[in-house]
This record gives sequence, structure tokens and C-alpha cells, in this order.
Amino acid sequence: MTQHFDYIAIGGGSGGIASANRAAKLGKKAAVIEAKYIGGTCVNVGCVPKKAMWYAGQISDALKYANDYGFSHYLNNNDGQDAKKFDWAKLVENREAYIERIHAAYQRGFDANKVTVINGFAKFVDKNTVEVDGQLYTADHITIATGGRPAIPEVEGAEYGINSDGFFALTEQPKSVAVVGAGYIAVELAGVFYALGSETHLIVRKEKPLRGFDDMLTDTLVEQMAKHGPTLHTHSTPERIEKLSDGRLVVHFTNGTSLAPVDCLVWAIGREPATDNINIESTGIKLDERGFIPTDKFQNTNVDGIYAVGDNTGRAQLTPVAVAAGRRLCERLFNNKPNEHLDYSGIATVVFSHPVIGTVGLTEAEAIEEYGQDNITVYNSQFTALYQAITEDYRDPTRMKLICAGKEEKVVGLHSIGFGSDELLQGFAVAMKMGATKADFDNTIAIHPTSAEEFVTLT
Ligand code: FAD
Ligand code: NDP
Repeated sequence: MTQHFDYIAIGGGSGGIASANRAAKLGKKAAVIEAKYIGGTCVNVGCVPKKAMWYAGQISDALKYANDYGFSHYLNNNDGQDAKKFDWAKLVENREAYIERIHAAYQRGFDANKVTVINGFAKFVDKNTVEVDGQLYTADHITIATGGRPAIPEVEGAEYGINSDGFFALTEQPKSVAVVGAGYIAVELAGVFYALGSETHLIVRKEKPLRGFDDMLTDTLVEQMAKHGPTLHTHSTPERIEKLSDGRLVVHFTNGTSLAPVDCLVWAIGREPATDNINIESTGIKLDERGFIPTDKFQNTNVDGIYAVGDNTGRAQLTPVAVAAGRRLCERLFNNKPNEHLDYSGIATVVFSHPVIGTVGLTEAEAIEEYGQDNITVYNSQFTALYQAITEDYRDPTRMKLICAGKEEKVVGLHSIGFGSDELLQGFAVAMKMGATKADFDNTIAIHPTSAEEFVTLT
């Protein structure tokens, strides 16, 4: 028998969960359909386990500073040496136990809100009907929140490599690893491997990683990698992966060179939308050429009653974006707020690299393009965070940049790399969203001693 709902979210990840809970809280009969694990990418193979691994890297770094802080008994003062004692499997076990607790918390939320969870892979039958394991479900409103999956290049031997999902499945630490890619995931995973003691190579096909971020950030990241970080191979495009008889992998590049054998190869070259096997054709939805679902600012697809939120829309592939888009959609549909929608501008983001990057707004190049060179003022700062300032060997620069536009010096870009750049960002993002100017920043008394205070004392 067909079951009917007011609202169905296909995909129990960030966007699907948030929207189904909101619909249910607003009194609607809501369901979420999940093929694998509740929580989706972020909770199971994304933000959450990544951050745990990043914290492990931070602890490994902290151990290197331990001698200078007086904890000499913890220290062997060479990069990576402490990691010899590092128990990767133990960390993974604790990380996964935490994820189990998150699953349970989600279930409690569904129970409290009376959201029905349907386990299985959903396919459309028509624009109001989906089928899961032979059972039909209809809904007045259906949101496609199927997310994405890691892309794998068409390279001979590509199957010998793993992707970010495979990274989280590792129960042993590879001694040596090559990470291919130039985005968030490549930079973050390479940083984690290196910090935890693996010999790490970061392979980018162009001149640097994180192109598109402000040059100050990427130049500093590359500078720091050269000092103590993964070995960066630029202008290197893999052509063939060779598997040796001992299981190690050799990456051969299109320029005729190759990398010494590594234990593990990770592809981190972007993600593709999970929209290709849900019989979306039956709804009349038109995908773009890369398979993403085009939506207007209200998350409407081209078919009435079907919406899309999150990674499969191809916009700002970040958890809080999927969550916010899903919640706003349900507020619009079910809470009489016809104009409710997500403003995709000025989204703050952190790259959990080593050192960590926080960034919001325009890069300097974008600001020049938008306002003209003569109409922007750029403030820069460089200092050593107090945390590292007392160490002998690890005095990395923290660098910050504030980009202001017009005579009123409206803050249009804020970029930071170095200790604390992750946690300092959110408040500044609020200020920028409210239209803060340099004068507003200057009028704010600093919190001392912090790294964040630099942004309110720039001259
Ligand atoms: P997802 O979370 O991917 O959820 C989609 C769900 O739909 C999945 O559970 C999938 O199993 C299910 N599904 C797919 N098809 C079907 C179907 N037909 N039927 C039923 N279920 C289906 N973002 C951040 O903001 N901060 C970070 O630090 C961060 N780190 C990341 C690290 C990694 C390694 C990765 C890969 C991503 C990271 N992200 C991060 C991005 C973030 O995880 C995504 O933007 C977010 O999960 C997108 O949410 P979503 O709801 O669109 O999709
Ligand atoms: P990204 O899209 O961020 O970066 C992938 C990069 O890899 C491309 O920009 C490109 O850079 C390079 N690339 C593409 N194809 C190839 C290829 N065939 N060979 C070699 N390099 C290639 O993808 P990610 O997979 O890193 O992450 C996906 C998204 O997930 C991110 O964009 C982000 O939105 C989200 N995420 C967010 C995180 C956070 O908030 N901290 C953490 C992790 C993911 P180039 O053109 O320079 O070569």
C-alpha cells in the first residue's frame, strides 16, 4: 500500500535531516529516506571524522612544542618522530564510537519530532512518488538531498587508489602516502597524514593548491608546507598508477616523471552529484551538464513540488549551507514565509589545513575586479601567535588580511591563516553580514592576548 506524507526528503544527510525535522516541527507528516547511514557525508565520512583526525594532528603538533612548554618527557623534537608511538587504530575506534553516539542523537531527534525514517535507496516513479525496496511513497513536497560522492579520474590504475571514504576506512596508518588533488579535501587529508607522521606527498596539477583562495593564504600555506608539511608536487598530473608486487604504488606523471613508491594513494579531486541513478528523468527535472540539479534561490527545481538542497545543487558544498537551505525551504513551504530563502553570499569557511585557514568574503583579486583597485584598501598583518612564540623551532607566521571597499571602508573580505583562524572567524562573519566597516572594527575593543584582536587593531 502506498504511504503518503506531506514532505519527504530523499537523503538522510545534512540537508535532508534538517529539512525533515523542520517540516515535522511545523506540524507536517515528514519522512527522510536514507540508503546508508543517517548523518550522510558530514557525520560519517566528512566534517566530523575529518575534524577528529585534524585534532589528532593538532595534538601531534602540540607534542612537538611540549619541550619548550616544560613537558620534556613527552618529546622527541623531530617532526614526525612522536607519531611513531601514535595508535591510529585507537583513534579510529574512538572516532567511530562518537559517530555512533551522533546516530543515536539523530534518532532521538526524529522520535521527538515524529519524523519517519525509511531505510533504503529511493528512486522516483513520478514527480510525486518514490519507490524504496518495492514500497511506494507519495508526498506533496519532495526534496532531493542526495549529496555527492568522490570523483575518480580516468587514469590507468586509478582503482588502486582510495578516496576520502577510503581514508576514513583506514584502520592502519600508511607509512607513505600520495594525495592527489588541490581542494579542501586534498589539503586537509595531506595535512593530517603529515602531522601524524606519514611521509606525505601532495600532488597538484597546477601551480598551487587552493587556487581561488586569496593569494596570501595559499602562498603562506605553500611556504609552511615547505618548512614542515607534505612535499608539494606542482604541475603534476597522474597518467598511470602502477602496483608493485609488494603492493606499493607508483604514480607516473604525464611529464614523464614518477613518484617513488608509496603505500597509499588518495584521490581528492572533487565530488560529483548523486543524481544519476534515482530515475530523475521520470520527474521532468533537467540536470546541468555535470549532473547537478539547478535550483532557483528558493531551492525550487524546474518541476513544481520538487526541491533540491545541499551538495547535489553544486553550490557551496558545505554542511551549514545544506542545513540552512533545507530549513529555510520548509519555513517557506510550511510556515507562511513566502520569501524565506538562503542568501548564498558571504559564506564563511575554514580549511582545516596545517596551518588552518579561515576566510570570508572577497579575495583581493575579486575585490579589485568588483570595486576597482582605487576603491579598495587592504590591511595586512603578520605575527607569531603567542601559542608558538615561546617555542624554539615552530614559530610559524600567522597572517591576516582585511579588504575594505569604498570611502566608508566596508569590510568585504577577511582572511586569516595560522593558529586560531578557525574559531575566530564566525563572529567576524556576523559583523560582515551586518555590513561592518573598518571603523566598526576599530571601535571594538580588542580581546588580549588573542590572535583575533589583530583584526580590530589593523593600521
Ligand atoms: P550528504 O551529507 O552527502 O547526504 C546525502 C545522503 O543521501 C547520504 O547519506 C546518502 O547515502 C543519501 N542518499 C543518496 N542517494 C540516495 C537515495 N537515492 N536514496 C536514499 N538515500 C540516498 N563541510 C563543512 O561544512 N565543513 C567541513 O569541515 C567539511 N568537511 C568535509 C570533509 C570531507 C572529507 C567531505 C567529503 C566533505 C566535507 N564537508 C564539509 C562537506 C559536507 O560534508 C557536505 O557539504 C554535506 O554533507 C552536504 O550535505 P547533503 O545533505 O547535501 O549531502
Ligand atoms: P574541491 O572541488 O574543493 O577541489 C578539487 C580540486 O582538485 C579542483 O579544484 C582542482 O583544482 C583539482 N582537480 C580536479 N580534477 C583534477 C584531476 N583530474 N586531477 C588532479 N586534480 C584535479 O573538491 P574536494 O574534493 O577537495 O572537496 C569537495 C567539497 O567539499 C569542497 O569544495 C568543499 O565545499 C567541501 N569540503 C569542505 C571542507 C571544509 O569546510 N573544511 C572540507 C572538505 C570538503 P585545480 O584546478 O587547482 O587543479
